[in-house]
Amino acid sequence: MSSVIRLLPDHVANQIAAGEVVQRPASVVKELLENAVDAGATSVKLVIKDAGKTLIQVIDNGKGMNEIDARMCFERHATSKIAAAADLFQLQTKGFRGEALASIAAIAHVELKSKEYNAELGTHVIIEGSNVVSQEVAVVPDGTSFSIKNLFFNIPARRNFLKSDQVELRHIIDEFERVALAHKDIQFVFINNGSEMFHLPASNMRQRIVNVLGGKTNEKLVPVQESTEIIEIHGFVTKPEYAKKSRGEQFFFVNDRFIKSGYLHHAVTAAFEGLLKDGTHPSYFLYLTLPPNSIDINIHPTKTEIKFDDEQALYAILRASVKHSLGQFNVAPVLDFQKDSGLDVPYGFSGTSSVEPTVEVNTNFNPFENMQSSRAIASQIGSEISRGGFNPFESVKTKSSGGTNSPRVDFQENKNKSGGWETLYEGITDAKEMILASNHHIEDEEVTGSLFDEESLSSQTAQQTYQVHKKYIISPIKSGLLIIDQRRAHQRILYDYYLNSFSIKQNASQQLLFPLSLYYSVFEMELLQSIEQELIQMGFSFNEITNEKIVILGTPESISESEVSIVLEDLLNDLQDNLPDDVPVLYDRMAKSLAQSLAVKTGTFLTDKAQEDIVNSLFGCENPQTTPFGKTTFITMKVEDLDKKFM
Ligand code: ADP
Ligand code: MG
Repeated sequence: MSSVIRLLPDHVANQIAAGEVVQRPASVVKELLENAVDAGATSVKLVIKDAGKTLIQVIDNGKGMNEIDARMCFERHATSKIAAAADLFQLQTKGFRGEALASIAAIAHVELKSKEYNAELGTHVIIEGSNVVSQEVAVVPDGTSFSIKNLFFNIPARRNFLKSDQVELRHIIDEFERVALAHKDIQFVFINNGSEMFHLPASNMRQRIVNVLGGKTNEKLVPVQESTEIIEIHGFVTKPEYAKKSRGEQFFFVNDRFIKSGYLHHAVTAAFEGLLKDGTHPSYFLYLTLPPNSIDINIHPTKTEIKFDDEQALYAILRASVKHSLGQFNVAPVLDFQKDSGLDVPYGFSGTSSVEPTVEVNTNFNPFENMQSSRAIASQIGSEISRGGFNPFESVKTKSSGGTNSPRVDFQENKNKSGGWETLYEGITDAKEMILASNHHIEDEEVTGSLFDEESLSSQTAQQTYQVHKKYIISPIKSGLLIIDQRRAHQRILYDYYLNSFSIKQNASQQLLFPLSLYYSVFEMELLQSIEQELIQMGFSFNEITNEKIVILGTPESISESEVSIVLEDLLNDLQDNLPDDVPVLYDRMAKSLAQSLAVKTGTFLTDKAQEDIVNSLFGCENPQTTPFGKTTFITMKVEDLDKKFM
């Protein structure tokens, strides 16, 4: 038999390698930016169109390439950065594999213009799918410009596999920020679809961080500085009170290279022990300098992990120095998250003695008469709670009794009703039926030992709900007991409410007395811009969203001023990893996020009125049985079950 093994032609080998090196437009951005840094540039400009799918261009004023190098750089394993294996252990550059340009040229249309400082003329190379189309002498500025067009033009599967522009842009911004944060001495400019997204002048480290992450970052930063024999650490962590729910802003740089390390991350969070609210994460920007021969970065080109010689010692040093900084800047002792938040008394009430909540008994109340209009009332419960009054539900009654513009009342069927809140309980029979329907077999069973027969139930109007352990709402029903999880029920109510609000033409907006400025990172601003219409639809109003700040002028009536920043932060957090392209999916995600943020917490005391509102609104929902996340909202317990317990 003749032999069958042969060497692959270069362009095929390059295309295969490209599969590893270039996963998405952001990979190209990373490679080109790093090449510019390695070329000693002091100014680097990144230009992208359509999230890099149409164009990625990097222009630098670095040392440039001569005619021959401008061809050679597209060869596989062609690099000027190392000559021998030993050089790997003294690496001062980002690149060393000589793979990136060969890979990129195999799967895109590439144009290179380059000129060395002292050369009179430069060179212009066009290469498409590894084939050199032309190379000419050209008049070009000092430095190098790479334009990458039509990425993956010859691998349709890859191209189709790319995510939405929003997601791809997010990855590009991530890579850009990493390189920009690692090289404060270089000026970076980033133009996205014709408008300037970042303009970062050469500066000091603090200024660079602030320029990248937005104006309000400065006051959040606590410096960290430590110098030992095996490592030098400098950089910043954010004060614990600025910890975020998202994990976005966490950066380690080792010898000016961005890296990820779960182990070192743990060291930093360990230093914050006891200082953070549950579920929040500190931001950090930590620059570690180690002897090049004590680390091994010779790993997969797209990976950012790194191997250290003495990881345990690094862990200890890092943890200690972050802890020291937090202590030194007096951050540690002022905060006490263990404190019972129930003891916090709002200013208006400090000095006044607290009044026991009273239980009002309305003898005419019949929770099961009519539930038609009960929907969505409880949507306000969460906001009432977090507004922080001593009795968070005080205002519910007035608001829900026919206020003219509260969306929570005017919403849906309640629109034209102006009767007292008792009207909200008309139609509870439906609710009861619903409960009974979900357990319809119970109906036929004889109820023994019930305190109320059906008639007496409908005419009995004594207190019908009880809160247990600030967690459950219990209510007697015909067959026995209804037990509702207060937080979950409220999530369902809010979810339905907000989902519905997207189908209402114009949701009412309440103007804020003073405009509220909120600061976010460039990426978060991008994200806000892409959900701008949906936010306006909900009742938000704001002036133009700029690169770093949004000024809120009005909020939906169901969201108070104090909740806005939390709601938006949660929303950004929930959407940032995967912004849906599909509008209904986006509505669903937004409604879920709001339901999560605003739902009454377990451990919150509920007045009788609030309890009733939750019960009624819950059974006004189409799917009262579960939360939007699929969790059970209520259970029923039959009298027989109780009876059995007493046997
Ligand atoms: P590596 O960076 O691993 O060496 P690349 O494929 O990214 O491999 O680049 C190949 C070579 O092309 C580099 O070693 C460098 O000599 C040259 N090169 C790439 N980009 C630039 C640039 N912006 N300015 C000057 N030279 C460059
Ligand atoms: Mg490179």
